[in-house]
Amino acid sequence: MTEAKPGWRELPFGAVPYKPSLEYHTGDWGVERPDFDLEKCTRCTLCHFYCPEGAIGFDAGYPEVDLRFCKGCGICANECPVEAIRMVRKG
Ligand code: SF4
Ligand code: SF4
Repeated sequence: MTEAKPGWRELPFGAVPYKPSLEYHTGDWGVERPDFDLEKCTRCTLCHFYCPEGAIGFDAGYPEVDLRFCKGCGICANECPVEAIRMVRKG
């Protein structure tokens, strides 16, 4: 028999962000950033859609990262179908 889980009324209070997401610079967390090989890039935009921080935009059709929000997770590099992204150290 499985143990019943508590309902939402029994859960303890948690923290609630008080700033809009644009004021949380998640880029401070990371040690790496994506480096784009524009020769390989097919401009498919998948990196933009997979980025959990919305840090990848497109300038003149090519990806560009906003380092204020890139937390260095590497998801974009993992998902790029043509391996046009490699993670390098920030700095
Ligand atoms: S996922 Fe890769 S190929 Fe697609 S736009 Fe991003 S860098 Fe370019
Ligand atoms: S490393 Fe993570 S946070 Fe940074 S651009 Fe790629 S997917 Fe977004």
